Formats: sequence, C-alpha cells, structure tokens
Amino acid sequence: MWIGVDDTDAREGMCTTYLALEIIEEMERRGYALLSFPRLVRLNPNIPWKTRGNGAIALRFGRGVKKLHRIGEVRGREVWVWEGEDVSPSPGALRAVMGIVERRRVRSRDTSPGVVVAESMPSALYWRAVRDVVWMRDVVPVLEGEKALFSGINGGRGVIGAAAAIAWDERFVTYELLTYLPESEWFRERWVDDASVAEMERRTRRTFDSYDPYQGRAVIKPSARTPVLYGIRGTLWEELVDAMGMVSADRYESWLIFATNQGSDDHIVETRVCDVRPFTSCALYGRVVKNPVRIRGGHVIFSIDDGTGEISCAAYRPTGPFRDVVQSLRAGDEVVVYGGVRDRPLTLNLEKIRVVSLIKLRVKVANPRCPCCGKSMESIGRNSGYRCRKCGTRSEDAVYREVKRDIAPGWYEVPPSARRHLAMPLALLSDQKLRGVEDEKRHK
Ligand code: ATP
Repeated sequence: MWIGVDDTDAREGMCTTYLALEIIEEMERRGYALLSFPRLVRLNPNIPWKTRGNGAIALRFGRGVKKLHRIGEVRGREVWVWEGEDVSPSPGALRAVMGIVERRRVRSRDTSPGVVVAESMPSALYWRAVRDVVWMRDVVPVLEGEKALFSGINGGRGVIGAAAAIAWDERFVTYELLTYLPESEWFRERWVDDASVAEMERRTRRTFDSYDPYQGRAVIKPSARTPVLYGIRGTLWEELVDAMGMVSADRYESWLIFATNQGSDDHIVETRVCDVRPFTSCALYGRVVKNPVRIRGGHVIFSIDDGTGEISCAAYRPTGPFRDVVQSLRAGDEVVVYGGVRDRPLTLNLEKIRVVSLIKLRVKVANPRCPCCGKSMESIGRNSGYRCRKCGTRSEDAVYREVKRDIAPGWYEVPPSARRHLAMPLALLSDQKLRGVEDEKRHK
C-alpha cells in the first residue's frame, strides 16, 4: 500500500517531508511496517504554483516480516525498512493520513493538500508530472482506473503530486538524509557549521552538493521556518549516516533517509528548438548565433540556432562564475544547453552546458607579402583584398594569428547553490559518460 502526500506547506512554514515522520509513527502504531525507503520525489521545477522545490512524498507500508535497514530515528524511536508482504489500500489509512495532514498543513489560500492511497500508479504519470504540466482532470481518471483512494482539502491539487510520487519508477535514484529540529525551534535561525560540511564533503566519496566552494558556505541548510535542520545528498545511503556524524550543527530531534529523484535529470527532454514549450525543461543542441552579452543585473544572455529555430539562453546572476564560462562563448561555437524554459520571452534558464566544439578565433597581425616579389601588399579597401604595389599581384588573405580561447570543449555547470534539485551534477554525470557519447552520435 503506497501513501502519497503533497502540497501541505507554504512559504510561511512546514515541509511536506516532515509529515513522513508522523505518518510512519501513526502507521506503525496501527501495526504496519515500512517496506521501502520513504520517497521524496521532485516534480516539474517550472510549475508556477509550486512553493519551493515542487517535492512530494510517498511511503510504502505492509506487513513486516524481517527488519532490513535502519534508515532513521523519529523522536528517539528507530525507523526500519522491512522485508514484508504488501497489503491492499485501506480507507482507514487514508483517514489517518488525512487527519495528520489536517492537523499539520499550513492554512493558506495557496496550500491545496492531497493524499493518495494506492497499490501502484502508472509510471507514465510520473514522467508527465516531472516534465510537463498535469491537470486534475488528467489525474482523476488514472486514480479511478487504479482503484486508488484519494482525498484533498482546499481543491486537493496536491493529489497530482501525491499520485506522481507513487508513480515514480526509480530509474535513477539518489538519497537524502534529512534531520529535523524539535518543534520549539522551527521558527528560529538555525546553525550549521560551514567548515564541518566542507570537511564532510571531502571525507565522503558519494555525497554531493553539500558545500559551495565559490560562496564558501554550506548549502545543506534550508531557510528558517521549516522543521528541517539540514539535508545531505548522496548516491550511497549507508554513507549518509556517517556523513551526518561529521556535521556540526544545532541539535536535531529526528532524522530520516529518503530515496529521491534529485540529481537525476529526469525533467530534461532532448528536443529541437522548434518544439520547445514554456514550463518544460530541455536539452538543445545548436550553434551560438550571437556573442553573449552581460545585461543589467549581471545576467549573461546569448542565443543558439539548431536549424529549426533560435532561442535565447540565460545564465542568471545567482549562477556566479558559470556566467564567465558562458560569456566566453562566441558565435559559431557548437553547444548542448540544458535548462528550464520560461515563458515571455521564451528563454532557456541554463542549468549546465556542454561545449561540443569551438570556432577558431583569429586577429589580423599584418598585410600579406606578395607571393611573386615578396613585398608587403597594400589594402585595396574594406573586404576587397590586397594588391602588390610593385607587380600588381592580388591576394585575398592577410596574415592572421590564432587567439587562444578562454574556454575548452567539455561540460560546465552552475555552482551547487544555484542548482535545481533535479539537475544532475557533473560529478554524477561522469558515472554516466555514455550520455555524452550518445549525444554526439545523435547530432553528428
Ligand atoms: P516543497 O518543495 O516545499 O515541499 P512544493 O514546491 O512542493 O513545496 P507544493 O506546495 O507541493 O510546492 O505545490 C506544488 C503543487 O503543484 C502541488 O499541488 C502539486 O500537486 C502540483 N504539481 C506538481 N507537479 C505538477 C505538474 N507537473 N503539473 C501540475 N501540477 C503539479
């Protein structure tokens, strides 16, 4: 029995992942056991009505037979993933979870909680929800087809995310260990020691995006007003427990490891410029049309053309040193750009870029020498070539020197502080070198 929950928080506070703790406590009280890692599933990052990271949660419960892994501690009680037997979705479970949501949700106009209890959901729903815009009218027939139980408050839009989190097919999984503050501390400033996080990242092999070396600060700490103290991401869940022991921070009350699609690039669709739509994310192959320019506010803008159309690409100010990389591009360079598409004007908000090839840049250093008599030739006029004053021989080309480019072919990405949850960091991409190779095959 899967339980999915979404849209319980608002900018004023809370975090949907916190509900996972209370749901686990409540379901265990009712005799159920957790049969998989709790899921934290990020959905389309370009949805205008998301609160922060467009995250939904899903948990799988059944009858436990044998304890497998210790994956958390909630107010002093250990949380285990069990080997066990599946059970059918129960109306009692839906009622219990709705009770928790009702108690914990932020009561704001924009919060529209939804809960889904189901045996499974088709993975196509996940792929639509992570890449596109989905409407309630699309989801309700799927829920009915799967005989799911579902309920919502204030419109229940959260049902979309809740169903999509259950539908996730775990094609690419990473983990996040989240620590939670006692309730009395939720609205206070929290302290996480930057140096200890930098050290933790150095000492662990499989954690990622914990520390931003450019800003010299930890990026594992959310803003105040949420129950979360910090979250450590990695590809090996066992290592996250050791990593937690290396971070110096305020006292946490609970911790829990989630399986997530963070860093998966699941939101990215390889497409052509003519097929780009707002509120989606894509990878586009093309040539730089005009040299990049830095506009007011410090954003760097350029455009690419792939033969089907032209689109603007932007590296915004928060992407810091990434903007310098982008600014080194020149018209004619061949690139693959990755990012989310914003509407009006249609612009790709860059997450990373692969520079495939660079044009040769050259500057004129002298007029040519006459091939017949060796004298220096004179210019006939702008773009009209050269002529030898002595024997009248003509030539088109001056003497050029190649200019060294400030950028080399390869991958470049925004720093961790500017990274979207779903964007795959290059550190993970290198595990998947094939992707680049496939890119080349496709575009050559
Ligand atoms: P947080 O990351 O802090 O948990 P959030 O950014 O997830 O917050 P929510 O409050 O959950 O924001 O709001 C997102 C809303 O958008 C939810 O109601 C969810 O069901 C809905 N939603 C998610 N993905 C899509 C999608 N692809 N199309 C339409 N609606 C979506």
